[in-house]
Amino acid sequence: MTSTPQQQSRIEKAKEIANNPGNYKVCEGCDSIVGSGTHICPNCHGYRFDPEASRVVDQAVWLGCREQTSVTAEDLI
Ligand SMILES: [Zn+2]
Repeated sequence: MTSTPQQQSRIEKAKEIANNPGNYKVCEGCDSIVGSGTHICPNCHGYRFDPEASRVVDQAVWLGCREQTSVTAEDLI
């Protein structure tokens, strides 16, 4: 079982988010997770977010498990 450093960092990030859901929220436009202080989504430029902890955790787990299939704005930073 091998994983690339990039996959590993995604899993680590997902764990961190799942442990601190209050610091994050989910974009209603593209389902990406952003910091709780974010006003405009860096991926889709949406401004509607769901700060509910259960939604943030679900999304973090899903993102952490998912094979990366596309390059997002976040990956380019
Ligand atoms: Zn978005």
